[in-house]
Amino acid sequence: MTTNSESFPQIPYFDEAAVRRVLRYDELIPAMERALADFSTGKVLQPVRTILPVAEHHGFFGVMPAVYGGVMGAKLVTLYPGNAGTALPTHQGIIALLRATTGEPLAMMDGRLITEMRTAAVTAVAVKHLSKPDAKVLAILGSGVQARAHFTALRCVRQFEDVRVWSRNAANATVFADEIGARAMTAEDAVRDADVVVTVTHASEPILHGAWVKPGAVVNAVGAVGASNREVDDEVMQGAVIVDSREAAKVEAGEILIAGATIYAELGEIVAGTKAKPSVERVVFKSLGLAVEDLAAGKLVMELIGR
Ligand code: NDP
Repeated sequence: MTTNSESFPQIPYFDEAAVRRVLRYDELIPAMERALADFSTGKVLQPVRTILPVAEHHGFFGVMPAVYGGVMGAKLVTLYPGNAGTALPTHQGIIALLRATTGEPLAMMDGRLITEMRTAAVTAVAVKHLSKPDAKVLAILGSGVQARAHFTALRCVRQFEDVRVWSRNAANATVFADEIGARAMTAEDAVRDADVVVTVTHASEPILHGAWVKPGAVVNAVGAVGASNREVDDEVMQGAVIVDSREAAKVEAGEILIAGATIYAELGEIVAGTKAKPSVERVVFKSLGLAVEDLAAGKLVMELIGR
């Protein structure tokens, strides 16, 4: 063993601007598809993340490690809902990557934009595999970072002709709708007749009710994380429930735990073809966010920068 610090070359740090320059949904969505399929076929080493409540400062600190595809690493992520309306985003983080064969550090990078984009890219994978190919109407409940990212990512997999938006704060909904050429309305009006519904809010009580959702629609419940939080009600959860990780869902998915819902499959099982696409009329994808998504996205960033 050597202790000579010169034998440890400095590793690069890719800031948000560097990540933004290279990361695009047309490459990220297939990368997430592969990562989810590999996760659900046992090719990823990953525990359920640790989330420490930082009660004193009303925040959460998440530690998300994984080993996958020649690299290992972790995302350190923070959620501070009180940052809303300030110069700081509510979600921030950094990702560290190391070589799996030798353990040597490879790079560190901003995790905020990767969290934003990989989450929307994973929902795009769900929409691609679960929704009708001719889905035309999209309803987005929420008007923050994830709402904007989902609008961009979902258009890579479906040709939407009508996009409806709702947000708790009507002014925020209007700004967002104007920005993307959508229509702001009540949550119920937005959801009725929608082919694809996305919930991307900090709500801890249902903002989406099954009675509004048309048969054949695909609901993507992305916002709520934690056993006692949920954005969608019991009726939504009566459909075929697809999750990113069964193991994580049993700990972190309030929608599933509160409704006592049964999990039909992991999204990666549908992508890999080891589980058939559900044939029932109501399908809900419950997204929690996985370390392997951050690792795969981080590795993609490293490869794109090195190209
Ligand atoms: P932002 O802070 O950018 O936006 C938050 C949104 O939540 C706003 O539209 C806000 O609406 C709405 N909101 C806040 N409180 C409530 C409430 N009590 N009831 C209804 N709406 C509310 O956050 P992001 O867009 O980055 O994240 C949205 C959600 O997605 C978060 O809960 C986050 O934890 C989750 N998330 C999930 C990931 C995953 O992998 N599944 C990854 C990243 C985030 P308004 O402004 O109108 O008040």
